[in-house]
Amino acid sequence: MKEFELIARYFQQPTLSWCNEIISTSIGDDCAVLNIPDGQELCVSMDTLVEDVHFPKQANPYYIATRALCVTLSDLAAMGATPVGFTLAITLPSANEAWLKSFSDGLIEIAQQYQCSLMGGDTTKGPVLVISIQVHGIVKKGCALKRSDACVGDKVYVSGNIGDGAGALPFVLQDPCLQTELTARYYKPFPQVEYGQSLIGVASACLDISDGLIQDLNHICKSSSVGMMIDSRKIPLSEALLQECSKHQALEYALTGGDDYQLAYTAKHCVKGLCIGEVVSGSEVLVPGREAKKNGFQHF
Ligand code: ADP
Ligand code: MG
Repeated sequence: MKEFELIARYFQQPTLSWCNEIISTSIGDDCAVLNIPDGQELCVSMDTLVEDVHFPKQANPYYIATRALCVTLSDLAAMGATPVGFTLAITLPSANEAWLKSFSDGLIEIAQQYQCSLMGGDTTKGPVLVISIQVHGIVKKGCALKRSDACVGDKVYVSGNIGDGAGALPFVLQDPCLQTELTARYYKPFPQVEYGQSLIGVASACLDISDGLIQDLNHICKSSSVGMMIDSRKIPLSEALLQECSKHQALEYALTGGDDYQLAYTAKHCVKGLCIGEVVSGSEVLVPGREAKKNGFQHF
């Protein structure tokens, strides 16, 4: 199959790639063209997934696609933005049609669910499978949820259970095709898009937890020049996770594991979410009672 046939068959489908009031040109030209509505700003973020680094090569291509798009949409959620479209750069060792069909079906599910159109991309052949997705979203001017405005006295919240993604990883590595509640959180994390939008005007700082709660909260501390005191007993852990490991291990996954894609945010007061601590003067996250070990995932 030739490159252009592949693009037409698996990516340029009306259920995956469409135009609307904002996207005036999608796949098929040299650039996608976006018409940003008055009073809105464009939010852009990119994530790259490399085989056997960010997902097992043998995993179901459907779930490689859902994971790739969901983790990228999570960055839009963290800004309070509304998804518009995404571009996809894919490097493939070969053009396997069954693989591509399943991969594009996974993209379709998430693109439809979050109304995020595939607007363009690049298709190349290379030694290993690499997927880069860039998402584009819009947010009312000046309203994007940043990391830099947390204040001493604010409370620290999370949007849901933490630790499932990291808790799933040993199972995913052992059997990339295992389907359990926990592995579903790894392959199809929930980007908290509506939740993020609901935090506009409420949260003083926000991010999505991708590399481990402590490490990610430290990003807010650094950007906002504050510290945080976290009560680890208040961190919500799922039943599914607690069935697979000890409470101590589950908490370690939650604090340092990453791959959660829940939101962590600060606010004076928020009726949503679970309060896990408070913003204090200082420069880093403190978790009383925990011996300092690693804080999260780092690539290098
Ligand atoms: P160019 O050579 O002008 O950069 P290409 O020949 O690479 O364009 O791509 C042709 C069209 O197909 C473009 O609109 C491009 O955005 C789109 N495209 C290529 N690869 C992908 C992909 N993996 N997903 C979505 N669209 C793609
Ligand atoms: Mg061109």
